[in-house]
Amino acid sequence: MTTTTNLPPRRPTRLVRIGKIGVGGAAPVVIQSMTNTDTADVFATAQQVAELHRAGSEIVRVTVNTREAAAAVPKIKERLAQLGLDVPLVGDFHFNGHKLLAEVPECAEALDKLRINPGNVGKGAKRDEQFAQMIEFACKYGKPVRIGVNWGSLDQDLLARLMDENAKRPEPKDATGLMREAMVASALESAAQAEKLGLPGDAIVLSCKVSGVQDLIAIYRDLAAKCDYPLHLGLTEAGMGSKGIVASTAALAVLLQEGIGDTIRVSLTPEPNEPRTKEVVVAQEILQTMGLRAFVPMVVACPGCGRTSSSFFQELAQDIQNYVRAKMPEWRLVHRGVEEMTVAVMGCVVNGPGESKHANLGISLPGTGEAPVAPVYADGERIATLRGDDIAAEFRNIIDRYVERKFPPSTERRKDVR
Ligand code: SF4
Repeated sequence: MTTTTNLPPRRPTRLVRIGKIGVGGAAPVVIQSMTNTDTADVFATAQQVAELHRAGSEIVRVTVNTREAAAAVPKIKERLAQLGLDVPLVGDFHFNGHKLLAEVPECAEALDKLRINPGNVGKGAKRDEQFAQMIEFACKYGKPVRIGVNWGSLDQDLLARLMDENAKRPEPKDATGLMREAMVASALESAAQAEKLGLPGDAIVLSCKVSGVQDLIAIYRDLAAKCDYPLHLGLTEAGMGSKGIVASTAALAVLLQEGIGDTIRVSLTPEPNEPRTKEVVVAQEILQTMGLRAFVPMVVACPGCGRTSSSFFQELAQDIQNYVRAKMPEWRLVHRGVEEMTVAVMGCVVNGPGESKHANLGISLPGTGEAPVAPVYADGERIATLRGDDIAAEFRNIIDRYVERKFPPSTERRKDVR
């Protein structure tokens, strides 16, 4: 696995600072997520922000929908500081953001970015006035803004204007084409308006979220060609389980491969009892499997087939995957580069030794009819042969020793990846 060669060139953009994190420019693609707690509940929200951040979310967005929620934001920030966490927080505003920021200015001060949805700022003349108020707060407190268009709340005045213009064209666009055009126009016109009101161009991030993969790809290609603001990518309402993961991956991978996208969110609907952090893990896996970033050692495992004699192979793959993820918070502090490591867990002799030799570490389990031994490879060389009931524990020990040896503790403790 490499994260430094054969990568697609990134689209050049301005660099926007969001707290300690840079988005766009030469910065790596940033992962973000959003809480689903009541923001007014300081303890629960701080707790979830901490969980998302520890899982790898570099920026976390919270909804700011009431005066109580706005008042809670500085307290959430305080609580996170008590936990030793410096997490850039984004406030998500709809309908009443101008009022909330006027009533609770400490909220604007505590946030690291404001998210404004141009379709939900207000109607008619009020729209411009309330949008201007939000931008004034951003300017006053030196905060960047994400202008986040969403097709579920597209600016209806703008859409009506574009429909009129479209009707006069010799070859009018169809409804889909017009919707896509309106999304891009809403983002760009709002950004231009924000700059006119004094918000610096390097304090603007744009997003245009839709729930259709082809729509998202077409919209972002258009948006990317028309501006140099950093772009936040995400498929909205992606859905649950494998559907949500596949849809998000399909859309994001195409765009990231074209160098489009400076920050991403995977908007998964958690299944019952599924942790909110799943979306962060999926976002990391998209970036890591594409070779764009590395977060945690990758476990390569074959799918198994009629040659695997039991479920032991699947259990070992799962065990090792969980093990390296659980060890990563400790490893990343002292073992620089360990996130680039690959570990292969293979089910039989057909591809087992070969794949294991390609990985940093690999184990090839015995398939049906094979001798009950599991050769282990390190950097292409066979270093051990495991057998018996303790294969999993012994392989975990081998991983630990390999990490100590290949990624020796750095004299300087690592404060953060960025
Ligand atoms: S490595 Fe062996 S067990 Fe795994 S998929 Fe290939 S043939 Fe099947």
